[in-house]
Amino acid sequence: MMWYNNILETIGNTPLVKLNTITKGIKGTILLKVETANPGNSIKDRMAVKMIEDAEQAGLLKPGGTIIEGTSGNTGMGLAMAAVIKGYRCIFTTTDKQSKEKIDALRAFGAEVIVCPTNVDPDDPRSYYSVSSRLEREIPNSWKANQYDNLSNTQAHYEQTGPEIWEQTGGKITHFIAGVGTGGTISGVGRYLKERNPAIQVWGIDSYGSVFKKYKETGIFDKEEIYPYITEGIGEDFLPKNVDFSVIDRFEKVTDKDAALMTREIARKEGIFAGNSSGAAVAGLLQLKDELTDDAVVVIILHDHGSRYMAKMYNDDWLRERGFLKDEKLTALAILKK
Ligand code: PMP
Repeated sequence: MMWYNNILETIGNTPLVKLNTITKGIKGTILLKVETANPGNSIKDRMAVKMIEDAEQAGLLKPGGTIIEGTSGNTGMGLAMAAVIKGYRCIFTTTDKQSKEKIDALRAFGAEVIVCPTNVDPDDPRSYYSVSSRLEREIPNSWKANQYDNLSNTQAHYEQTGPEIWEQTGGKITHFIAGVGTGGTISGVGRYLKERNPAIQVWGIDSYGSVFKKYKETGIFDKEEIYPYITEGIGEDFLPKNVDFSVIDRFEKVTDKDAALMTREIARKEGIFAGNSSGAAVAGLLQLKDELTDDAVVVIILHDHGSRYMAKMYNDDWLRERGFLKDEKLTALAILKK
C-alpha cells in the first residue's frame, strides 16, 4: 500500500515540462517548473508550511492559535490548508485587486478574509499590511506569518525548490527565471543554484509600476516608479526582506497586456493552464531570448493555476474592456448569425 499521511506530505517534487510551441525558434531548452502540481495549486504551499513549522519551533505559534496574514491568495491557500491539518484558525487580509475566485477559495478552507483597498500607501491604516498588523496586536495567541520579511519563506525554496531544480536538470541549468513578489522564490532558489554553480544566471520578472528593477540597477528606491498595475503576484511598492538583490543578476519588466496575453497563449499553445505571473515570466523570457545560446537550459517558475483568473485574462470581455484583445477571430456563433 502507498499513501500519504495527510495532504501536506504531497507538497513538492513538481514536474519540469518543456515548452515546445511558444518557444519555437528560440535557442536552448526552455522548461517550466509546474508548481500547480502542489495540492494548493501554487508554489506558495512550500513556504506556508515552512513558515508555520519554523514558528511552531520558535514557540511563536502555539496550539489553538490564530494565523494572520496579508495575502493575495496563494500564500493564504497554503496557510489555510496547513491550518486545517494542524488545527489553527486563519484570518487573512487582501486587496480589492485580487480575483474573487482566490478569496472564495480561502473561505472554502474555513479562513476569514478581510478585503482592503489597493490604492493606499502600505502604512495607511486601511492598507492590507496595516489591518493585518492591527489584528495581530488585538487577537490573543495570534501570529502574523509576514511572508515579505519572514526569511523562512526564502529558506523553503533554498531547501526544496532549488535542490529539486538542480537534480531535475542534472546540474545543467544555465538560467533561472521567476516573477518576484515577496522575493522568496527567486532568492532561495537563486542562492542554492549559485552555490552549486555561480555561473547560473538568475533573472527576476518585475511589473511596470513596481520598484524592483530600478532599485537593482541604481540602488535608488524611486517612488516615481510606483503606480497601479494589473498583473497579480509580482512587483511591489516597497522592498521586502526576502528579496536578496545579490543573487538576482537582472530584472526584466513586462507590461500587463503582454503578461495577460501570454498567460492565455500558454494554455492554447502548450496545454498548460497557468496563472498571470507565469504569463509574465514567459513573456519576460521572450523579451530576452536573443541572449540565449544553443546549450542554454532555462527553468521558469509557473507559480499558480489558471482557474484563479477565470474572471480576468481568461475572460474575453475583461480583455476587451482593457484593449488587450488582439486578432479577434469570428466565432462559430457569429458566422452562423451572418
Ligand atoms: N506569482 C504569484 C501568482 C504569486 O502569488 C507570487 C507571490 N506573491 C509570486 C508570483 C511571486 O513569488 P515570490 O513571492 O516568491 O517572489
